[in-house]
Amino acid sequence: MKYPIQLQRSNSSALPSYDFTSINFGPDHTDHLFCADFKDGQWQNAAVKPFSEFSISPLALCLHYGQTVFEGMKAFRLQDGSVSIFRIQKHLERLNRSLQRMCMPDVPEELFINALDKLVSTDQGWVSGLPGNSLYLRPMVFATEARLGVTEAKEYKMMIVALPISNYYNGTVKVKVETEYTRAAKGGAGFAKCGGNYGGAFLPTRLAKEAGFDQVLWTDSETHTFIEESGTMNVMFVIDGTLITPPLSGTILDGVNRDSILTLAKDSGIQTEERPVSYHELEAAFNRNAPVEAFGVGTAAVLTQIGEINILGRSYFPDCSSSGVAIKLRNELQGIRTGLLPDRHHWNYVVSQPDTAQMFNP
Ligand SMILES: *Cc1c(COP(=O)(O)O)cnc(C)c1O
Repeated sequence: MKYPIQLQRSNSSALPSYDFTSINFGPDHTDHLFCADFKDGQWQNAAVKPFSEFSISPLALCLHYGQTVFEGMKAFRLQDGSVSIFRIQKHLERLNRSLQRMCMPDVPEELFINALDKLVSTDQGWVSGLPGNSLYLRPMVFATEARLGVTEAKEYKMMIVALPISNYYNGTVKVKVETEYTRAAKGGAGFAKCGGNYGGAFLPTRLAKEAGFDQVLWTDSETHTFIEESGTMNVMFVIDGTLITPPLSGTILDGVNRDSILTLAKDSGIQTEERPVSYHELEAAFNRNAPVEAFGVGTAAVLTQIGEINILGRSYFPDCSSSGVAIKLRNELQGIRTGLLPDRHHWNYVVSQPDTAQMFNP
């Protein structure tokens, strides 16, 4: 094996006293984490060890010029009791696209899969299996080289942390179409899950919140008329029964849930269109009383219905009933991820049992 992973078990566990009915997503984490270093042109020191703080130099380049990239994925408890990571391969491909855009080293498939497998199997007691619960996995890569200078770093750290999460949140969100600020422009890094894309979105989001909305609905940087995405969710509309979502133009994130929901929609015979959709088109649909559903899709929130869309000061109210396309597709996705429905696209990666841990070796 090219990247052996050391396992150093924690000698205490927060699991026995952890209350999975009141998960505090964000600060709560499992007992272990994965880490590895990129040095001298290769990944090394791969280990699963007790979760702890760590130190880096104030000169570490990630603190200065933004070479930080992350992923967000989930592990689920299947009906048969095993634990599965959802669409591991697709997350790896996207991680490497993000890393390439930021001039950072690729994470090899063997390292990525074995790291997640070993971390999740070590901490698999944290995948409770209670309805709506799962384990959020946050891989990240950042520049640690201690050498000030506006250049590509030569040293990096990769870490993966695991956080219990529940998605009992079934509310709807209010969004405001953003026509002043821009999230990403053509030729930029909008398709990459790199830190800077999020920091730059905080101010417009804060302003939208102060105006009574939950999120902004980003528009294209050139005309501010075509819808892009919202927060950390891709957006979809169902107008007259057709599911429409903005195309992967390079300015929006290539969401794994976007792809999954599109696939499930096609499977069930729903017409789908990946094409630019302007707010004028939305306004026109609302004004002629067409049936309109709107929702965001992403790993953290899964699928969130949009209950209000504000376009240039005027609010419109999409259909948020549970008999629509959105909830049907959400239930189907959830069914596949938890083993209730057949995994016909082979999206579930079943994690090794701790004792028999059989490592992936291509
Ligand atoms: C992560 C993310 C998404 C959703 O991607 P998933 O793979 O479905 O979680 C959408 N937009 C942005 C900006 C994101 O960061």
